[in-house]
Amino acid sequence: MSEIRDVIIIGSGPAGYTAALYTARANMRPLVFEGSQFGGALMQTTEVENYPGFPDGIMGPDLMDSWRKQAERFGAELVPEDATKVDLTGEIKKVWVEETEYQAKSVILATGSAYRHLHVPGEDELMGRGVSACATCDGFFFREQHIAVVGGGDSAMEEATFLTKFASKVSILHRRDAFRASPIMAERALANPKIEVEWNTTVEQINGENGKVAGIDVVDTVTGEKRSLPVTGVFIAIGHDPRSELFKGQVELDDAGYVKVAAPTTRTNLEGVFAAGDLVDHTYQQAVTAAGTGCAAALDAERFVSSLG
Ligand code: FAD
Repeated sequence: MSEIRDVIIIGSGPAGYTAALYTARANMRPLVFEGSQFGGALMQTTEVENYPGFPDGIMGPDLMDSWRKQAERFGAELVPEDATKVDLTGEIKKVWVEETEYQAKSVILATGSAYRHLHVPGEDELMGRGVSACATCDGFFFREQHIAVVGGGDSAMEEATFLTKFASKVSILHRRDAFRASPIMAERALANPKIEVEWNTTVEQINGENGKVAGIDVVDTVTGEKRSLPVTGVFIAIGHDPRSELFKGQVELDDAGYVKVAAPTTRTNLEGVFAAGDLVDHTYQQAVTAAGTGCAAALDAERFVSSLG
């Protein structure tokens, strides 16, 4: 049987590494399951211009690499594996990587969320190079450009409206002939002179030139007619899925699958189990907010473990 740790952290994005840094500096010797791909969502992007403290911006992977080193420097033990099973219900929490069991008095869940992909050629290759899943993060890079927003729900309307601050033109591509978004959000978008809607339209392919988006091929879902749009940016706004599958049936989730916490704390419904970052966050989904709740989770876990005496 393995030793009983003070804390296990699952996830290695801004929330997980911040929790690792804080719990390491509190002498809790955190064991961090980073997942098979360390560093989280910012590993998929190029320049991050809105993380405070970097006036000239920083490349996403460089930021995460520094974060990782900072956590390690204070004694966080990093394991580049996915946690494959958990039992979080008892006093001693159990986490497995395949057949190997690890134990701890507390656990911090920070597995993030994944944006829904279009699954079209060019999408993954051009992510961070004109393809984006976050207008707040990347809108600024598209001044005076023609960009496409894919989706028909509230977040697509919000992203499209926000992007008109920068873009010369925003085309919303929606696969149906009516939006799913709430009427007020849809009306606001439709009334914006910079926004045009391409109804009954899906993306077939995102085209690149010199490593950047140079246009998209679209198809009319009614007539089957194909054509190209000369956009230089594509914002994918068809939703996010929190990575909460592993915790289902133990930790309370909301209807969309996000872990529920007793805000403003990071406590879940299970004593000694805390959650942070995009795994709990419908609304903000930024590196700095994930780091903030990662810090809060570390402080909550530290106080909880101290209270056990
Ligand atoms: P994540 O960063 O998603 O990290 C979760 C981690 O958990 C991952 O490493 C994953 O591998 C790991 N994991 C999952 N399951 C398991 C498991 N079973 N076991 C172990 N590990 C597991 N935000 C900004 O503020 N500025 C930006 O410029 C910006 N640009 C972005 C660009 C892109 C392309 C994307 C996708 C997002 C961007 N964001 C940006 C948003 C930001 O990246 C997220 O809000 C932030 O990374 C969320 O942090 P997190 O720690 O909650 O989750």
